[in-house]
Amino acid sequence: MENTMNSDSTHSAPRSKTPYEHLWLPFTYFKDVEENPPLIIDKGEGIYLFDSSGCAYIDGIGSWWVSIFGHNHPVITSAVKKQLDKLEHVMMAGIISEPALRLSNLLSEILPKGLSRIFYSDNGSTAVEIALKIALQYHSLRGENRTEFVSFDGGYHGDTLGAMSVGMIPQYHALFHECFKKHTFANSPYCYRCPVGLDAKTCKAECMDSLEKILSEKGESIAACIFEPMVQGAVGMRVYPSKVLSRIFSLCRKYGILTIADEVAMGFGRTGTMFACDHSSEVPDIMCVAKGLTGGYLPLSATVVKEQIFEEFKGDYKSERILNHGHTFTGNPLAASAACATLTLVKEYDIPGSLQSKADFFAKELQKFSEYDIVGDIRTIGMVGALELVRDKKTKERLPADLRLSFKISRKALKYGLIIRPLGDVLYFMPPLIITEEQIRTMLFLTHRALREVIDEELSYI
Ligand code: PLP
Repeated sequence: MENTMNSDSTHSAPRSKTPYEHLWLPFTYFKDVEENPPLIIDKGEGIYLFDSSGCAYIDGIGSWWVSIFGHNHPVITSAVKKQLDKLEHVMMAGIISEPALRLSNLLSEILPKGLSRIFYSDNGSTAVEIALKIALQYHSLRGENRTEFVSFDGGYHGDTLGAMSVGMIPQYHALFHECFKKHTFANSPYCYRCPVGLDAKTCKAECMDSLEKILSEKGESIAACIFEPMVQGAVGMRVYPSKVLSRIFSLCRKYGILTIADEVAMGFGRTGTMFACDHSSEVPDIMCVAKGLTGGYLPLSATVVKEQIFEEFKGDYKSERILNHGHTFTGNPLAASAACATLTLVKEYDIPGSLQSKADFFAKELQKFSEYDIVGDIRTIGMVGALELVRDKKTKERLPADLRLSFKISRKALKYGLIIRPLGDVLYFMPPLIITEEQIRTMLFLTHRALREVIDEELSYI
């Protein structure tokens, strides 16, 4: 009888055509992978990544915005190695690992005043899920029936279902919104294409009249307002002025709505202040942090709340005052030790104080892209820089989508040793905060080169 265990016909996998035959890559068209084989990265050091043949690439977007002190930073690497010799993991229900405890104290030192309770999870999306759940349950515990959220067009809060339900980037969310509870979306503070036709320099944040309308009409059923402070990131680095952020806070206060600041992308110095919320004088009721928290080493996030919110959850066995939530790897000691080391570096490098002159230099260098007819808008804040490409600068007419100009520019830049990944027609940079001025110059020089060449090659189409 045939031994089916060893039979080719039953158990063997189909023969691999490529080394990545079994992989499904996030936010990536299959056809693009076929035509442009992905880089296989072997190691990292500082702002550089190295592929398996030793070629170096500048990590222009900090590996999806996480790498704040660069790759393989000796302090973080050694903290994780040290922890690995002691304890890899312990659950967090009724038990606390030493690094998770230490981290809570370090984090509370830099959090905006009043945010005092820290709940860990694994990534930005789960931090948001937890924030939404806390807001819903907080009202329920107080006997209030508030079951909806208000957020913003262009908002992005992660890819899990709850986080998607409060996000509004059509290509990511439209298909799924039908399946969710209906939430409400106020205008995007998209200054380049202002939804109310005003100028950001002189406006009074009238784009947020739409938020006021929503809150005045249905504020009583709204549990919280969730927003990305100062920059709507994933939609294309829409930087907006602090007066808009202040108005969001003041409207929510006026209508008694909880605020959830999603600092997943912009926390830990990225916008030039420790947290993007610090651009206003307000403190949100709930804040989500992730990405840079471990310096980009390991997945870890935190949902932090004001004590008055935590108070509602203080109960005994007979009450329902408990947050029934917890992911298996909540507060993982390896990730927490990376985060402790990161927060030590935040102090040592004087983040955000030391970034000011570098951010000014970065902004000045970015302005040089205004020489191109297709660069319609240049947006900068702190160590975030973005170029919105258009067909016509005067009319702001968009580029034909199927031209994929920004994609072509990023492919060309890769050839020259720079990793960037455009968001639609927006080329952007979010390098590790430790990047030097010289390295910024190189990063932008490579972008100029790629941009010029693609314009030359594609000019007849635009
Ligand atoms: N919130 C914001 C503002 C983000 O930018 C992101 C990711 O880019 C998330 C949440 C989701 O984070 P994660 O990808 O870690 O789930």
